[in-house]
Amino acid sequence: MREINVSEVTALVRRLCMEANYRLPEDVAQSFETGRAAEQSPLGRTIFDEMIRNCKLACEQDVPICQDTGSAVIFAEVGQDVHLTGGAFEDAVNEGVRQGYVDGYLRKSIVSDPLRRVNTDDNTPAMLHTRIVPGESVKIIVAPKGGGSENMSAMKMFTPAATKEVIADWIADTVIAAGSNPCPPVIIGVGLGGTADKAAALAKEALLRPVGQFSEDPLYAEMEHRILDRVNASGVGPQGLGGTVTALSCAILPFATHIASLPCAVSIGCHVTRHAEGTL
Ligand code: SF4
Repeated sequence: MREINVSEVTALVRRLCMEANYRLPEDVAQSFETGRAAEQSPLGRTIFDEMIRNCKLACEQDVPICQDTGSAVIFAEVGQDVHLTGGAFEDAVNEGVRQGYVDGYLRKSIVSDPLRRVNTDDNTPAMLHTRIVPGESVKIIVAPKGGGSENMSAMKMFTPAATKEVIADWIADTVIAAGSNPCPPVIIGVGLGGTADKAAALAKEALLRPVGQFSEDPLYAEMEHRILDRVNASGVGPQGLGGTVTALSCAILPFATHIASLPCAVSIGCHVTRHAEGTL
């Protein structure tokens, strides 16, 4: 049994909130270069140039890549042989978010109640997904999620008779209908199976898969290719101003489901699909 004081969790979350908002993961940044090379619209290529310049400046100057520094979506894996001391885990995570967003001059975008809409002034609480896993370490991924792209999320409960082509085309059409709202070029995360809530969580987790990497399962890889081809043939383009690169990547995460069900959730990541991870 390894002891970890929750103050270490707070310090890690604080650092990751800033890191995720200042620096894109290498695979996402690299996809801007390959996206630019593939883009056929001159205006689209100019937008890619601006995206590349924006990310470089944010990184060099330790400022947010985008003014919307997002909801603090956090995935935590806590080893079952860890004994957390000094307080409650969730409190420590939220304290890390508070410190990260206040000290890092990140926009505070969270309201405490969906109808009363009073800003919490520190971007808490985190949208926390915690799993207990084997081992004696704590892994944390901070994945800030912008409101514009999050608002384009969708869910459909298909019947089990739905074909993979019908499902793929619905996913693609959902992304196309979103147009410029999620700040394309986008990354498409899909959760397929489980229950409605499980599918939604998987869709968000799917956004963490390295950009350009397809499923190891040929069935899902084929669907991912079909979705990408259809979305990129739509002409929406970078920032919705026309072009041939509307989506950079698509990841489907399947899960076991009920014999009567086939839930499908889509989470659209904007071109600033951020995340940073660390382990204690
Ligand atoms: S959707 Fe993404 S790029 Fe657009 S404003 Fe929100 S965080 Fe920024």
